[in-house]
Amino acid sequence: MRQGRLFVFSGPSGVGKGTICRELVKDPSLRLSVSMTTRTPREGEQEGISYFFVTREQFQKTVEENGLLEHAEIYGNCYGTPRKAVMDSLRAGFDVILEIEMQGALQVKRSFPEAILVFVLPPSLEVLRQRLSGRGTETEEQMRNRLSSSLEEIRLIKDYDYFVINDDLAAAVADAMGIIKAERLKVAGSSEEIISRYEEENKCFFTHQ
Ligand code: 5GP
Repeated sequence: MRQGRLFVFSGPSGVGKGTICRELVKDPSLRLSVSMTTRTPREGEQEGISYFFVTREQFQKTVEENGLLEHAEIYGNCYGTPRKAVMDSLRAGFDVILEIEMQGALQVKRSFPEAILVFVLPPSLEVLRQRLSGRGTETEEQMRNRLSSSLEEIRLIKDYDYFVINDDLAAAVADAMGIIKAERLKVAGSSEEIISRYEEENKCFFTHQ
């Protein structure tokens, strides 16, 4: 069986990448990786679904045990992708989605060059500001910090493979699905499987003549 593909979605905070990824994984062939974080849960967030919420000590221990595929510190909290769950899903043939920020995405690309990096962009910085203030989860200072780093983050797009502009959610999800489908239709990595499928059929064809 062909191993699954690893899709990494990133973008500035508040751009809506989480919503896009949650829509994508309604497709049963896709799995969303659940990250580990030292941040305190927000209202409505669930352990093991939104994140695995851990202490700094537990996080550090997992890093030392090489249990994370990548990790980064963002606004004073640690975030990381549990390695085993991702590798198990890929081996089982599922395509896996990571929704992580850019430092982590670039670490993944270095250790896993076949990973496909997708950058989610806001239609404008002004729209991003409005979305962040509407979310109401950030203090004024946190929001200023997040906004001022957005442009810096957007500059990292040159290391990505694709971009999606999240203006209208349904259109952004359709674009993201289009990227996934295009990757699935790439010949590279699938040619052996394709050829052998037709060779098998050809053999049966002649034995039944
Ligand atoms: P939040 O605290 O708002 O849930 O997430 C803050 C940022 O951390 C977001 O940009 C999110 O994509 C990123 N993030 C979430 N999980 C991970 C992870 O496992 N690794 C990395 N590098 N970033 C993550």
